[in-house]
Amino acid sequence: LGANALDAKAVLNIFAAKGRPADNPLIVHVYDRAQLTPLCEVSPLAEKLMDAFWPGPLTLILPRKPAIPDEVAASLPTVAVRMPSHPVAAALLRACKLPIAAPSANRSGKPSPTTAHHVLVDMDGRIPLILDGGPCKYGVESTVLSLVGEPTILRPGAITREMLAAVIGEVRVSESILNPMKAGEVAASPGMKY
Ligand code: AMP
Ligand code: MG
Repeated sequence: LGANALDAKAVLNIFAAKGRPADNPLIVHVYDRAQLTPLCEVSPLAEKLMDAFWPGPLTLILPRKPAIPDEVAASLPTVAVRMPSHPVAAALLRACKLPIAAPSANRSGKPSPTTAHHVLVDMDGRIPLILDGGPCKYGVESTVLSLVGEPTILRPGAITREMLAAVIGEVRVSESILNPMKAGEVAASPGMKY
């Protein structure tokens, strides 16, 4: 469910349509790495992972720059970025020439959709249109990997720990994936607490 990632007002419409808690940040999608320059700090390690897995279902958490509104990042000092491989997603990003903040197109708390029909059933009346690119290839979310500190998987997904380790060596897995969170604990990836 996408909106201009540089426009706080547009992004707030995503949270409203999904009923998404404001403390759950969004992933920003690009079609070209050059688009990242004003958005986040790209390290050599990040470049290496992009070489191996982009375009594809790997989301990287990187230090953010001021062009990213607080609403996108839930006021964290970081931003999540990804380059999707689907030709329709790539064509949309290329046509609008904007980074697009986009979570899955479901109401908060419901499973992520894998077909346009799921989106229609769940979101009809809450969104202006659906761009149908056919069923999703994987049916699980993108892997979220933090590169702030030791490389750490914050959310499991289509790119496995083994696939990442083959490119960058040892990769940690966040405690929040392995064990239920304790009361008062701060989530490394806020979405995991939902
Ligand atoms: P989705 O709703 O499927 O797009 O999920 C996005 C996931 O990425 C959620 O689990 C978010 O909490 C996580 N995420 C997005 N931005 C950040 C960030 N800056 N730091 C940590 N996790 C993030
Ligand atoms: Mg989702």
